[in-house]
Amino acid sequence: MKIKNAEFVISAVGPDQYPDDALPEIALAGRSNVGKSSLINRMINRKNLARTSSTPGKTQHLNYYRINEQLYFVDFPGYGYAKVSKTLRQVWGKMIEQYILERESLRLIMLIVDLRHPPSKDDILMYDWLKHYDMPVMVVATKADKIPRSRHAKHVKIIKQELGMTPEDKFIMFSSEAGIGREELWGYISEVAEL
Ligand code: GDP
Repeated sequence: MKIKNAEFVISAVGPDQYPDDALPEIALAGRSNVGKSSLINRMINRKNLARTSSTPGKTQHLNYYRINEQLYFVDFPGYGYAKVSKTLRQVWGKMIEQYILERESLRLIMLIVDLRHPPSKDDILMYDWLKHYDMPVMVVATKADKIPRSRHAKHVKIIKQELGMTPEDKFIMFSSEAGIGREELWGYISEVAEL
């Protein structure tokens, strides 16, 4: 994927602020600090467009990034610093739940997890919820550079098992540091976004 331009558009606090140009939207969910901003930056080959920080996401904002005038990355607030949630609404509130269930142009939700660790309770809740509503979802296990290659398969297996993934469920290994998985992920995004 050749990136001609990428820009931050808006930190939306409600549906009336979502873009109205109907471009396909690819959302990113995951716990705070898992590496979502780094993944966006690596995908668009920019060092710092998406803010990388260790500040826990407390807000309700949806951060929109427009890529090549062709699609949006929509970054959800990071979750998981508070005690484990029982419902998705406890994770983020109603706005994001509604966004996921009702947004016409949403094509894919990437659930970002850390390859080094088993998924958190909130990751599992999130994945179950998305599958329950039959949402298009892909699990992206990032920070792969932090694990020796010989142990990748073992970690992948644990993540898939804990999330209850089936062989048809989409999964990709990624590293923002090393660039692992970038082309494969763009390939899949291009497919679902019909680029
Ligand atoms: P966010 O809170 O999910 O947006 O997480 P960030 O993108 O800010 O990343 C959190 C920390 O993990 C930062 O210190 C990043 O440099 C680091 N990080 C993110 N992705 C990777 C990766 O693929 N490999 C390595 N080694 N570090 C990463």
